[in-house]
Amino acid sequence: MGNNVVLVVLIVCLFGGGVGRWITRQIERKHNRRLEIEKGPQPLCGCGHHRSFHAPATGKCHSAERKLMQSSNDERPDIYAMVECGCHQYSGPEPLTTYYAPEITGGVMRKDLT
Ligand SMILES: [Zn+2]
Ligand SMILES: [Zn+2]
Repeated sequence: MGNNVVLVVLIVCLFGGGVGRWITRQIERKHNRRLEIEKGPQPLCGCGHHRSFHAPATGKCHSAERKLMQSSNDERPDIYAMVECGCHQYSGPEPLTTYYAPEITGGVMRKDLT
């Protein structure tokens, strides 16, 4: 009986660290997955830019990209230019609309608000 207790204590001492790390990893993984679900998929356009770069009125993408204009040689390094993205319409997923719910303040009409 006494030997069994010693054995259990020995096992916990030997594997305790590993088990602790494993549990921590499981908790972290679960937490990360929940964060991913809460954040949802990112609204990325077909051009690769975020929805926020696209003008709501025209749909045109206003992001700029670094484009290689001339490759380097012995005398000079690569030459890059910032070129505007050619995308004209956001084609990615539309995020869910956020609804605004006004506070319910009972049925009392206040004269000073009208
Ligand atoms: Zn785009
Ligand atoms: Zn773009």
